[in-house]
Amino acid sequence: MNSFSDFNISKNILDAIHDMGFEEPSPIQKSSIPLILEGKDLIGQAQTGTGKTAAFGIPIVENVEAKNRIQAIVLTPTRELAIQVSGEIRRIARHKKIRTLPIYGGQSISHQIRALKQGVQVVIGTPGRMLDHLKRKTLKLDDVKMLVLDEADEMLDMGFIDDIEQIIRHTNRDRQTLLFSATMPPPIRRLASKYMNKPEEVAINRTRVAAPSVDQVYYKVFERTKLDSLCRILDSEDIQLGIVFCRTKRGVDELTDALQERGYLADGLHGDLTQSQRDKVMKAFRDASIELLVATDVAARGIDVSNVSHVINYDIPQDPESYVHRIGRTGRAGRKGIAMTLVTPRELKQLRTIEKVSRTKLEARNLPSFEEVAERQQAAWKQQLIQQLERDEDHREIFYEIVRELSEEYPTDRVAAAALQLAFGQTHHVEEEVYDFGETGASKGMVRFFMNVGKNVNIEPRKLVQDISELAGIPARSIGRIDVFDRFTFLEVPRDAAPFVYEALRQSKINGARVNLEPAKPRNKR
Ligand code: ADP
Repeated sequence: MNSFSDFNISKNILDAIHDMGFEEPSPIQKSSIPLILEGKDLIGQAQTGTGKTAAFGIPIVENVEAKNRIQAIVLTPTRELAIQVSGEIRRIARHKKIRTLPIYGGQSISHQIRALKQGVQVVIGTPGRMLDHLKRKTLKLDDVKMLVLDEADEMLDMGFIDDIEQIIRHTNRDRQTLLFSATMPPPIRRLASKYMNKPEEVAINRTRVAAPSVDQVYYKVFERTKLDSLCRILDSEDIQLGIVFCRTKRGVDELTDALQERGYLADGLHGDLTQSQRDKVMKAFRDASIELLVATDVAARGIDVSNVSHVINYDIPQDPESYVHRIGRTGRAGRKGIAMTLVTPRELKQLRTIEKVSRTKLEARNLPSFEEVAERQQAAWKQQLIQQLERDEDHREIFYEIVRELSEEYPTDRVAAAALQLAFGQTHHVEEEVYDFGETGASKGMVRFFMNVGKNVNIEPRKLVQDISELAGIPARSIGRIDVFDRFTFLEVPRDAAPFVYEALRQSKINGARVNLEPAKPRNKR
């Protein structure tokens, strides 16, 4: 099963998958899609980011008929996830006439009722709102033949288990049930044995693979500003030849365009290129007329170039094995190589899994500051200016005019510096609005969190600082005040690190206790 076309799925879905830019099934997809298509109940143990949405989404779209009945439901812990899953299923169903609808709390219920009345086949929702609709009889689940519990352990932590059981009881007994969870705590096991029919179990990330000995580092980045972060890294490194990995063909095309636009010598490689296009790109890479090769895993598989100095995981790999394959492209023939991985807050746990399974440790590195990049770029900027100065001057009268006018009010060197700033000094912002923790009563520049455990599980400030520092990849000394109480703890961390601390600690375990984290409320301030 190395290609989507090996699965027993319709052409319209294969076309949609192609449009989405997926080249080959991810490990969880390889192992679970055939079983789901056979109609088996299934327990899938996988982290976020491994492609499990498509693992159940593809069979759902394959099985659902155009008739006006809800035939599949997916329960998710949060509204964000419901929207995300619905979007992914919608893309898979792009060439098939079926409708998906996310329903979640916080959105007007009458709007949802209207949307439900128009006829949908797949509903994705949070348990609370789903139950609400069932009680109002605005949701009919008699025809549901597939039920998916996504991120079951998170739903457990959020106290949704009773709601889930009630919802399950509204569905048919002969339905197919799929359960996905990163961990398998006893209540989830119990749920599975109560409501599932001889489930098959698939788990990925089990086989250990040894990572080659190249330097491995990671950078904490945000989804929205990832491109800027990458450029900063590229600008601060001596790259001879670099391979930049993206998850999809679309991703390769988009990143290649963006890098070329910004003046990097880059080209892209993926499975949709013809052999001659491919050869051309590879030749350019081999003789170093391009410095950066942007590629998918599949496209990079055959590459044998010995002097690759950098492997950059722009998108974190979906499994440890592919991580090991990717970084094995550098450090060849006795040369030094470095592997860099960009990690968003949500992907931190995926990074830890990769470390565990491939038995390596990645060193956390801070993104180079603008000043650091600028220092290295000075020479290049000067060179560009000189080239411009020596070019034919005829076209620049308008610019002269501006300079003359402004020079009457400002010193000319300030005018020139401001112009340079505009030309070269794009400011990169690193915060992301998704993580707005609001007012938490923290000191300036910090975010304060409330953690649901304290002395009752022997939380010890010094150990906690060490754990946070390791899990979130931030220096221990940057962590602020920690107050441990009997049953809870307050802790302060720098604002730019807060999303990473939040994602790393949420749903984790400390001294065997399940930990949850939320932004503190200002009135809790002492
Ligand atoms: P999960 O549900 O496990 O958190 P997702 O299903 O959201 O992970 O997948 C993470 C990302 O990977 C999504 O952007 C998705 O579109 C993409 N993806 C899923 N399967 C593949 C694949 N086979 N090849 C490339 N990208 C994929």
